[in-house]
Amino acid sequence: ARGNAQDQNKPTTIHLLPEFSLKDKVIVVSGGGRGVGLTQAEGLLEAGAIVHVLDRLPTPTADSDFAKVAAKAEKLGTSITYHHIDVRDQAALNEIVGGIADQEGHIDGLIAAAGIQQETPALEYTAEDADKMLGVNVTGVFMTAQAVARQMIKRKHKGSMVLIGSMSGTVANRGLICPAYNASKAAVLQLGRNLAAEWGEHGIRVNTLSPGYIVTSMTAGLFEAFPERKTAWPEANMLKRLSYPEEYRGAAVFLLSDASSFMTGADLRIDGGHCAW
Ligand code: NDP
Repeated sequence: ARGNAQDQNKPTTIHLLPEFSLKDKVIVVSGGGRGVGLTQAEGLLEAGAIVHVLDRLPTPTADSDFAKVAAKAEKLGTSITYHHIDVRDQAALNEIVGGIADQEGHIDGLIAAAGIQQETPALEYTAEDADKMLGVNVTGVFMTAQAVARQMIKRKHKGSMVLIGSMSGTVANRGLICPAYNASKAAVLQLGRNLAAEWGEHGIRVNTLSPGYIVTSMTAGLFEAFPERKTAWPEANMLKRLSYPEEYRGAAVFLLSDASSFMTGADLRIDGGHCAW
């Protein structure tokens, strides 16, 4: 009987803390056409945000994952818009991001997730390979953040940015041959700290989010080439498994919302406790 009485008093609705809400916040997500970026964009929509994706994938078809997320956005009473762009193109970034700010009136946040990975032994690397990697993963992230900050500062509108780094920015992965990728992710961490220092006076927070191994098309390619990694990589963290894009949604909402209002220049590392052998 006691149990029943307790059940009757149980609240039927769960109230989340209001500071986690992204209601009506306008968030730009680079690399949001698929993978981690698209999954994070879905999380932002669930939290009430209006999302604009920048990606170089061909315009999404009606049966694409992006289209499914767009349909969900409509049901939630919000929207996700696709903009085709290469984030290395500074002029195009300024034009598209400026257009988003004109259309929406302001921009509140950014997730910079556009990134590439290439495995090549260090001695075989060409200068072109290295430039390409740093061009997308560092300069592309920098220029995307710059285009968004320009609009925030011009409109005197404070905001929050999340640059996607990687645990590979601080560890040398066992059995993974990607010196330029790891160097690019180390650069993202330092870029984030410096942008945070420079833009803090404008109320712009900048943090990095460093994931561990995630099951996406990026890692699928790495598993195809070296199947033994499927068992070796989970062994390298405390939870003994790989992670999924959904496990980074909540962190994105936290970092972009007022729940993290005093957090800037920091790195949030989510890697299942990746540890040295
Ligand atoms: P995906 O390759 O699945 O998605 C990345 C998206 O970014 C793709 O749509 C890609 O397009 C796009 N993109 C790449 N270069 C550019 C460019 N120059 N301009 C515009 N868009 C571009 O990768 P993930 O979702 O796995 O990774 C997302 C982020 O997370 C990356 O920064 C990655 O480094 C990071 N990360 C991933 C981990 C993992 O295990 N997967 C672990 C730690 C960090 P296209 O396909 O044409 O290249």
